[in-house]
Amino acid sequence: MDDEVTSVLFGLRGFTPVHAAEDAEGGELVVTVETATPVLACPDCGGLRTSSRGRRRVRLRDIPHGGRRVRVMWSKRQRRCDDGDCERKTFVEQHDQVGRRRRQTARCRKFVARQVGAESRSVAAVAAEVGMGWCAANSVYVAETAAAGMCDPDRPVTWLGVDETAARRGRRYVTTWLKIARTSD
Ligand SMILES: [Zn+2]
Repeated sequence: MDDEVTSVLFGLRGFTPVHAAEDAEGGELVVTVETATPVLACPDCGGLRTSSRGRRRVRLRDIPHGGRRVRVMWSKRQRRCDDGDCERKTFVEQHDQVGRRRRQTARCRKFVARQVGAESRSVAAVAAEVGMGWCAANSVYVAETAAAGMCDPDRPVTWLGVDETAARRGRRYVTTWLKIARTSD
């Protein structure tokens, strides 16, 4: 299978898979990727007089694929700025599909938020499917819904309500907790 077909099937925009294998326990797919278009310019001075300083491996969670959990190993390029007037010594690649200091791909974070929110699945079930801990999955859900303007985790809870909602008409019901923050007395 050629590289372009593999990239399309994996579908992480801007990245090219360079290796894929099952992990030792056989339950997870481990996909090593690199950016399709390397960034060579220094982020501080914009100069192109930079040189390679090897790679750094970043481990990320990604959306499940074919019923298996997926771990992405991003082989990040590290470079050094060779402009003597620039204060930046070294830098590593960044990409909008992986936020800074994030441990999941952006599409994985959206998947978790959608499954817990719109699909009304439990945090525990989604965390297990993706391969995250409960706390990490819950933090992703809260951060993504706050970023989308759907909740404000900093506003205190004044009232807490309980209700039931039909997730699948007449066949499946879920319990809903309603967090109500009062806006005025
Ligand atoms: Zn520079």
